[in-house]
Amino acid sequence: AEALSTSFRTTLKASPSQKKRVAIIGGGLSGLSCAKYLVDAGHEPVVYEARDVLGGKVSAWQDEDGDWIETGLHIFFGAYPNVMNMFAELGIHDRLQWKIHQMIFAMQELPGEFTTFDFIPGIPAPFNFGLAILMNQKMLTFAEKLQTAPPLLPMLLEGQSFIDAQDELSVTQFMRKYGMPERINEEVFIAMAKALDFIDPDKLSMTVVLTAMNRFLNESNGLQMAFLDGNQPERWCKPSMDYIQQRGGKVLLNSPIQEIVVDPDDGTIQHLLLRSGEKIVADEYVSAMPVDIVKRMLPKRWQNMPYFRQLDELEGIPVINLHMWFNRKLKAVDHLCFSRSPLLSVYADMSVTCKEYKSDTGSMLELVFAPCSPIAGGNINWIGKSDEEIIDATMGELARLFPTEIAKDEKWPATGKQGPMGEAKLVKYAVVKVPRSVYAAIPGRNKYRPSQTSPIPHFTLAGDYTSQKFLGSMEGATLAGKLAAEVIANRAIGNPDKPVKEVQQHIIEAAKTHLAR
Ligand code: FAD
Repeated sequence: AEALSTSFRTTLKASPSQKKRVAIIGGGLSGLSCAKYLVDAGHEPVVYEARDVLGGKVSAWQDEDGDWIETGLHIFFGAYPNVMNMFAELGIHDRLQWKIHQMIFAMQELPGEFTTFDFIPGIPAPFNFGLAILMNQKMLTFAEKLQTAPPLLPMLLEGQSFIDAQDELSVTQFMRKYGMPERINEEVFIAMAKALDFIDPDKLSMTVVLTAMNRFLNESNGLQMAFLDGNQPERWCKPSMDYIQQRGGKVLLNSPIQEIVVDPDDGTIQHLLLRSGEKIVADEYVSAMPVDIVKRMLPKRWQNMPYFRQLDELEGIPVINLHMWFNRKLKAVDHLCFSRSPLLSVYADMSVTCKEYKSDTGSMLELVFAPCSPIAGGNINWIGKSDEEIIDATMGELARLFPTEIAKDEKWPATGKQGPMGEAKLVKYAVVKVPRSVYAAIPGRNKYRPSQTSPIPHFTLAGDYTSQKFLGSMEGATLAGKLAAEVIANRAIGNPDKPVKEVQQHIIEAAKTHLAR
């Protein structure tokens, strides 16, 4: 990560005559990362963000009480090299609040109790991971632990080639193929799958789990988690924007791009059309929009090109992020918790874990509600339900997780009553639905993730879904933006283009058939 960052200021640095004007569509983490590295390389990027807030899936806004509402509960991992590198470069690394090196799981059979994987300081990877699992007595028996290890060994020995080869299998199929004990699904994989991609393990590609595990097994602090010390638009996006603008770039809010206008004969870009009617002409163009929007924005002339047709295989997964304020402190820990409940993925008491949201009098739980539609593995389309129905269902789950603290049958805040045992009272909530979030990493998707280099001259893709070794995540978005900047910086100094990633034969055939019709 650091070497690539440095290259923008050294080997990839453009001379004044090589400087390019670059129009970047989208001010999420990927668009901002792309612009940041382009200014480092001596270029002049302009980020066009549709909304009045930066950050896309990490965006946040204040309600009428001044409380922050976030699009998603976001966790940083030690194994996020590009994010860590960027935080250091922006001088904001002290904004990450690192938590004790531990994973905390709610116990399904023992409501109100938790169990942990503890990583002992000073023990290097992968032994710290192995030991953390061996030391936990509550989740798997010794025999089950022994049965779990051998199928994972090739990942350590063969590395990425083994990991990539498992993309056609779901987690459940992999487990069965390699004889892993069934209980590991309930104990670990459901929690992991829902945390990594908001879907159940029978839907998730095994490559995703192995990629994460591989990073965690190779880096001693890979699984250590951090929370940002406040809302992302101000604490991360703003310093990125300042960095870009101080070095000659621009970041514009409320600037939705309506159309990519191309030459009808050769398909090259003529300009971007802002919704305001303004035309944007640049030397290079980058899409840092989410995949579902890119598909809708494709000029007709490009739609049947195999490179763009493969995007039909990628689709954003729905997810719901909840904020629930209670009138008193719950017995929460200063960490992320894996709920292991059917409705919820991870949650945290942000009044404890995050400096800006600190409160000594009440708790604010931020919870990720997943899976929330049949494509994610659930059998209820929660994304289509009302906020009240979602909160009611969540209160039921919370009553199970905190049996002595949250009452089950209370209707919150409809009656506003204190629970029968003086339990905590829900005083306010906010529900954020994201109908299309990160791409669904169902089996076989990796081969359709497009390279940043596209077949269209001077048009490059960024965004967490593009081809890079991390799945849809803050690290993936940051790296993808950086790789898109690399494509442009390379081209600007006259180096040959990085090749376009090979497109699957069946996509090429389908495109031909379509053309013949
Ligand atoms: P986006 O964030 O989607 O940014 C795209 C931007 O393009 C948006 O700002 C959008 O407004 C803009 N745009 C779209 N169309 C136009 C247009 N026509 N003109 C101009 N602008 C346009 N990742 C982690 O690493 N750890 C986590 O714990 C984690 N938790 C998550 C929890 C939730 C609930 C969600 C939803 C996501 C979570 N993620 C997490 C994933 C992470 O947020 C994303 O992978 C990442 O932020 C994606 O960044 P991006 O720049 O690729 O896309």
